[in-house]
Amino acid sequence: MRATTYKVLSDSFNKRIYVNLRLKQIDSDIIGNVTIRTYGILQNFNYLEFLLDSHIQKKKLDDKTRLLLIMAIYEKNFMDNIPIYAIKNEYINLSKKVHNKSVKYVSYFMNNILSDIIFIEPTFKNEIKNIAILTSHPIWYSKLIEKQYPIEYRKILDSSMTKKELRFRKVSEGPINTEYRECEFSDLLSFSGRFQDDEDFKVGNVVVQDIGSYLVSIYLNAMPSDIILDLCAAPGSKTLHLSKYAKTLYSNEINESRYKLLKENVEKHKAANVITLNFDGRTISEHFTEKVDKILVDAPCSGTGCFSSKPEIKFNITTDKIKELVALQRELFDEAIKVLPDDAQIIYSTCSILDEENVNQVEYFIEKYNLEEVREEELISKFSTNKKYGLQLLPHSFNSDGFYVCKLKRKINE
Ligand code: SAM
Repeated sequence: MRATTYKVLSDSFNKRIYVNLRLKQIDSDIIGNVTIRTYGILQNFNYLEFLLDSHIQKKKLDDKTRLLLIMAIYEKNFMDNIPIYAIKNEYINLSKKVHNKSVKYVSYFMNNILSDIIFIEPTFKNEIKNIAILTSHPIWYSKLIEKQYPIEYRKILDSSMTKKELRFRKVSEGPINTEYRECEFSDLLSFSGRFQDDEDFKVGNVVVQDIGSYLVSIYLNAMPSDIILDLCAAPGSKTLHLSKYAKTLYSNEINESRYKLLKENVEKHKAANVITLNFDGRTISEHFTEKVDKILVDAPCSGTGCFSSKPEIKFNITTDKIKELVALQRELFDEAIKVLPDDAQIIYSTCSILDEENVNQVEYFIEKYNLEEVREEELISKFSTNKKYGLQLLPHSFNSDGFYVCKLKRKINE
């Protein structure tokens, strides 16, 4: 189990493999334990590094050795009921298996340092640096969140350390396991326990869907006569939700393997009104000539709303990556506008909490294309923090992923 956790974490850092995908390859008898450890370590990684560095007197260690020590510190300080002698033995043995070069130092650390490591708070002069370490975010990112959310920033940063509440959308019309409890909407449910073993989940009577993703369909307000283009559709959560209400959905995805997944999901849920497309959304006007009523641009984004459920994103996010995404989001919207009829609506959404990708983008689209917002005041007042345009759901407000959605239409010139 420790060896598997070590491998999952190494793959996440070195090969940039999403942890949730990597965990799917693990044997069912240890998956629970490996998942808890992996997410716990990732959610607290910078803080664990801080604890390590505070105790090794600037000793230079390679990444593999550091990871072994960080895992041991996590186990000692964050997990209950594991005797310290067991932790010491296990990690000395693990170092022999996975990184022989480190055995000498790992043994020294286990026998002379580990017992002394207790929770301490960083005490740098710069308060936001202390918060960044405690909540394991890059410092530049913590500063940005403080700037954009001067009131809520601490809660937002803290929220990435807690497990979010998983929600499910009821798909079947019939009765389901009574352990599913109604959340913010009558068919949006929570489930306590291991949902993977639940029969309703296995057969597809319920599907995992977070509030933000659910809100997109409500926002879009699909009608039985509506023809909808979902420009960035895989794996298909929103497509499947919308297919319940719309006449026809054209669901497009560029990525080959994600397109396959989209198709599989559409078939599994027998969504006969969904037509899947496999184009680069930035060229959709060259391939698509249907007159649509609504377009959804659920754009690729930084995923900064999802740090709790995908903590590895914290380590991959950079300012350059954000700039690239902003440019891609604009290209996709620019193309979507080409196929947007005058009387149709366009919904722009992301699972980001950054203004660059959300409200600032919308402001740019409004000016460039002479658009106006169609505001859903009731939903905005219930779910959103205050923004000039759109609904910005923050991750701490409902213990969910953060999300942004905004509905636009062309301004009618008088
Ligand atoms: N709407 C999806 C759902 O609810 O399940 C989630 C979409 S995800 C936020 C963004 C998707 O856009 C990814 O599947 C990504 O592969 C896809 N994508 C990225 N660049 C694209 C492009 N140029 N054209 C079309 N899709 C693209």
